[in-house]
Amino acid sequence: MKVLVAGGAGYIGSHVGLELSRWGHQPVVLDNLVKGHRQAVVTGKFIQGDVGDKALVKQIIQEEQIEAAVHLCAYSLVGESVTEPAKYFHNNIGNGLSFLDALRESGVNKFVFSSTAAVFGEPEKIPIPEDHPKNPTSPYGFSKLTFEGILKFYDRAYGMKYIALRYFNAAGADPEAAIGEDHQPESHLIPIVLQTAQGLRPHIEIFGTDYPTSDGTCVRDYIHVNDLAQAHILALEALAKGADSTIYNLGNGQGYSNRQVIEVAKKVSGKVISVKEGPRRPGDPAVLVASANRIKEELGWKPQYPQLEKIIETAWRWHAGHPNGYEG
Ligand code: NAD
Ligand code: UDP
Repeated sequence: MKVLVAGGAGYIGSHVGLELSRWGHQPVVLDNLVKGHRQAVVTGKFIQGDVGDKALVKQIIQEEQIEAAVHLCAYSLVGESVTEPAKYFHNNIGNGLSFLDALRESGVNKFVFSSTAAVFGEPEKIPIPEDHPKNPTSPYGFSKLTFEGILKFYDRAYGMKYIALRYFNAAGADPEAAIGEDHQPESHLIPIVLQTAQGLRPHIEIFGTDYPTSDGTCVRDYIHVNDLAQAHILALEALAKGADSTIYNLGNGQGYSNRQVIEVAKKVSGKVISVKEGPRRPGDPAVLVASANRIKEELGWKPQYPQLEKIIETAWRWHAGHPNGYEG
């Protein structure tokens, strides 16, 4: 299948593109490089441009004979979305909508969307199933939930068949290729912990030690980026076989506290990791753990790297080999 991977120069998108090639599909990456890296695109064609540029997207679809699309483009810093909601709504909703229109006007009706656990807000029960109430606490989570809603109505009116994948905490790196996580600025726990292990940061600050969890720190469900990528291929192949539109949660169903993550990172890296205890980060739910049973049952998704230690090992390999990320 010829697949337009919008946002394919980013962390998750670069792994999706690579995995598509491994499964015999042909990725065409569109990315404006506002956050992504040209070097992260290791297979398929790369086109620099904005997903909201409808004329460009239509031209790519026609010239490349695109059959399906994966939409990973977004701004995704929760804190920034609170202070700059307009930026988030314009990119995550406005540009996404323009992308959808370019696809439907060109007759492409298979769409895989990067959604997030942030659509749920503070969970009422753990693990979180797909039909759990949604009360996003940030403009970022709201932008993703809104886009899920847009997809539902585009399916009803225009037959746009979609699968939205709600990722929990993506982590790790491809064990073979030279691609990995390089966000600027970095906000995620695992890369920050590993940069501390490398001596690139003086300490890791734990945001909140008074949560109602076993050790007082937040609990998250980490999922290897290759396992996420695999889910995109399964989703695209299901849509190609006529699957109905749906939404799946993607996580391992097992939570690790921030302190546990740091302990595993110490073990994997063999380095000292200095820890500073700080206040809570606004908007962080205490526990986020996915129930991913539906995608396992319906699409046969089977994670290859369910253990946190393995996930951190692959991330450590990337960070150790690329202390400055893609720069140098
Ligand atoms: P990322 O920033 O590394 O990748 C996003 C890519 O989209 C970047 O390469 C960026 O340059 C590109 N982009 C953004 N706006 C664009 C536009 N208007 N036109 C063209 N390209 C544009 O982020 P990521 O961590 O790889 O996340 C990918 C997707 O997954 C995002 O939609 C994010 O919200 C979602 N998500 C990520 C996580 C996570 O743990 N990283 C968790 C849940 C959901
Ligand atoms: N976190 C932390 N220090 C940091 C970065 C993150 O304590 O420097 C915590 C954060 O508060 C949350 C967990 O690590 O409890 C995971 O955060 P991340 O930003 O990686 O992912 P999120 O859960 O926000 O999607």
